Amino acid sequence: MEDLLLTEEERKVKYEVRNIVKDVPPELIRDIESEKVKFPREFLDLVAGAGIVGLRYPKKYGGRDASWVADMSAVEEMGRLGFTLSCMYSLGTIVGEAINRFGTPEQKETYLRGITSGKRYGAEAITEPSGGSDLFGMMKTAARREGDTFVLNGQKRFIVGGQGADFFVTYAVTDPSATPRTRGVSAFIVDRDTPGLRVETMYGLMGNKGGGTARIVFKDAVVPENHLIGEVNQGYDVFNRMMVPERLTTASGSLGVANAAIEVAAQYAMHREAFGAKLMEHEGVSFRIAESLTGIAHASALVYTASRAADALDAGKASPSYVRKLVSMAKLNSTEVMWNAVNSAMQVLGGIGYTTVYPVERLLRDSRLGMIWTGTNEIMKLIIQHEYVKEISSPEYPRDKRNIELDALDFSLVDEKVMS
Ligand SMILES: Cc1cc2nc3c(=O)[nH]c(=O)nc-3n(C[C@H](O)[C@H](O)[C@H](O)COP(=O)(O)OP(=O)(O)OC[C@H]3O[C@@H](n4cnc5c(N)ncnc54)[C@H](O)[C@@H]3O)c2cc1C
Repeated sequence: MEDLLLTEEERKVKYEVRNIVKDVPPELIRDIESEKVKFPREFLDLVAGAGIVGLRYPKKYGGRDASWVADMSAVEEMGRLGFTLSCMYSLGTIVGEAINRFGTPEQKETYLRGITSGKRYGAEAITEPSGGSDLFGMMKTAARREGDTFVLNGQKRFIVGGQGADFFVTYAVTDPSATPRTRGVSAFIVDRDTPGLRVETMYGLMGNKGGGTARIVFKDAVVPENHLIGEVNQGYDVFNRMMVPERLTTASGSLGVANAAIEVAAQYAMHREAFGAKLMEHEGVSFRIAESLTGIAHASALVYTASRAADALDAGKASPSYVRKLVSMAKLNSTEVMWNAVNSAMQVLGGIGYTTVYPVERLLRDSRLGMIWTGTNEIMKLIIQHEYVKEISSPEYPRDKRNIELDALDFSLVDEKVMS
């Protein structure tokens, strides 16, 4: 018995996805790794054909009205395939979020239905060469209104699906004089065949191969006005909403990667012998596995708490700020737990773990990215502290708690409490 914290319905979704993942051909993953496959269209068709893309979206657009928890448990299962494919799967949930929340009925009909049916694969073109962390401070891509169109100029870097995606959700400055700068940015849907959109560099990557990661250039790319997502200059709100699935999917996919690596290591340790005993009988080995499992279990608890919080936000029972804090914690924690678990798995396997005989070396290379993308882990820490300071400074913060400063022996020496 497992997954006790999921509802019956959520568990059903999770196990349905588990079954699909089980049957993804291993040749596909090997072909991705050896770079025979540069963009996994076959996989995207498979998951869309199985009806499991965009689970949270309304049924009328091909989704299932599923909870965040169900959606993230599906991504966790996808993690067993490694980060590339769980990311490719997750992009449906991430990109669709902007359209589901802020899009027009026509955009939903075309793009949400396109995502869930597998006819239109969407990617997110956010990061720029001048900076990913300080995106809004450094954004150079600009959109100029011309009649009933916007003309985009600029470039976006490291875009998964740069090669292969049918459309991009992107952001551009529409009011350079806005203060703060966040209030002068808009979000757009840009179709791949838009004149003026070019794919330039295809990046050579340490891991996560096969996602078609590229630089996208907009040179006088003419985007119809009805491809604006939300209002003009509302891009920051769209972005913040998109960051919920962006970071939650990385967090939940990491659980799948970490679990898969530890399973390989545990199986190996139960059979391989050294010094007259199975490796698992040596505490140095078994404790590594125990510590990894404990890390994965607490990461899982945080991912599902954050996902429940996102469900509560949608039901009007949690604040965006609270969810932002938990989601950032989940992303930070899961990716570090994954990295440590995969690294431990490699150590347990010894030399053979470093070879391509086992998949752990691939998972190790893949998992390093978790700490960098969807906002680096340093940026997650900035968000967590920022939201916490905001929370405890707010007039709504509960003041009816015990004041433990009064429990200090010398609490009354107020002259010693020098702050500046
Ligand atoms: C393989 C791959 C796939 C990607 N996929 C996509 C994608 O599909 N779409 C997309 O839009 N982007 C994507 N990205 C981009 C990714 O999200 C960014 O690389 C990431 O946000 C970091 O931005 P940067 O590379 O510009 O680093 P920088 O912002 O230049 O940061 C460099 C370093 O400085 C640190 N730093 C910066 N500011 C601070 C601060 N205030 N305090 C402490 N530390 C700080 C960072 O944490 C980092 O360690 C991808 C990246 C890679 C490598």
